Amino acid sequence: MSIINTYDIKSLTIPELEAFMQQLGQPKFRAKQIFQWLHQKRVLSFDEMKNLPAPLREQLKQQCSITHFTIERKLVSAEDGTIKYLYRLADGEYVESVLMRYEHGISVCVSTQVGCKMGCSFCASTKAGFVRHLTPSEILEQVYAPARDTGERIDSLVLMGIGEPLDNYDNVLRFLELVSSPDGLCMSHRHISLSTCGLVDRIYQLADLNLQITLSVSLHASNNQVRDEIMPVNHRYPIEQLMKACQYYTDKTHRRISYEYSLIRGVNDNPRQAEELAALLKGMLCHVNLIPVNYVEEAGFHQSGRQQIYAFQKLLQSRGINATIRRTLGADINAACGQLRRTAIKK
Ligand code: SAH
Repeated sequence: MSIINTYDIKSLTIPELEAFMQQLGQPKFRAKQIFQWLHQKRVLSFDEMKNLPAPLREQLKQQCSITHFTIERKLVSAEDGTIKYLYRLADGEYVESVLMRYEHGISVCVSTQVGCKMGCSFCASTKAGFVRHLTPSEILEQVYAPARDTGERIDSLVLMGIGEPLDNYDNVLRFLELVSSPDGLCMSHRHISLSTCGLVDRIYQLADLNLQITLSVSLHASNNQVRDEIMPVNHRYPIEQLMKACQYYTDKTHRRISYEYSLIRGVNDNPRQAEELAALLKGMLCHVNLIPVNYVEEAGFHQSGRQQIYAFQKLLQSRGINATIRRTLGADINAACGQLRRTAIKK
């Protein structure tokens, strides 16, 4: 599981730590103590785990590592207080997370992979390809590091950074379990959104778990022709299959799905496409997030004009589809996903 040659102890659940303690001939309750040191007090070394016997601490030092991120770069937006963090991982890779301030609290956007395989044409994260999955502890550290840095309470999380969360399914699920543990950060699943480009098989699998997280689906097109062009995943899972999986997800979880729709000038932003989108989502428990596309050098796509965006929203609303336009945060620090890492690896 770990990229280093020792046990990645911060990725273990309490039952797994209990099994580990049993192997070491330790009482079961040690597991919870260790978990709390790692996930509540968030210590950086075994020496700080004061209620553990010294010989156990020595054993843990020998056999385990504590994933800990140091901040490589930090950019703070003068406009809205958004903070963008760049971390260097143990193997020299880079990953980013973003802290955003909303009226309803602080939200952190985390990455789930180093790079991405999905190849969406408008996305910076995928341009240099896929490097590797992040471990559960590496996803957690993107939440813990900003919490340590700002000393503030993190109220919600979005899995919308670099990578496709459902392509790193096992580690992401483990992360969801760890981050919501009452002996850890205790983040309610209701305060977590997971964004996917539409890996249909995984959506079914996730639906069957009946978690209370919010599923965001990156749709970005109202028909297969356009979606095929901008999102290669659509060749594998075309829109009809995706919508069927989404309906299944809602039936199972009774949760409203959020559809992401990045408006790209001249590609997916005309009134006919708004009509088509409304027809596609008719009768579904859903919400549409309209996002003016962020300019990415290699993609060459441009944002739709303000008028075009409002007209698109109006049309959806007039067809009974709930649609909002996402506010851009941290524009002055290039806060959109993948852009800081891109700059770091280009150097
Ligand atoms: N792989 C997941 C999550 C990461 S991307 C997914 O595809 O959903 C998070 C969101 O940002 C997705 O909706 C993605 O399509 C969108 N996105 C990526 N590049 C963008 C850009 N240049 N402008 C606007 N949105 C973008």
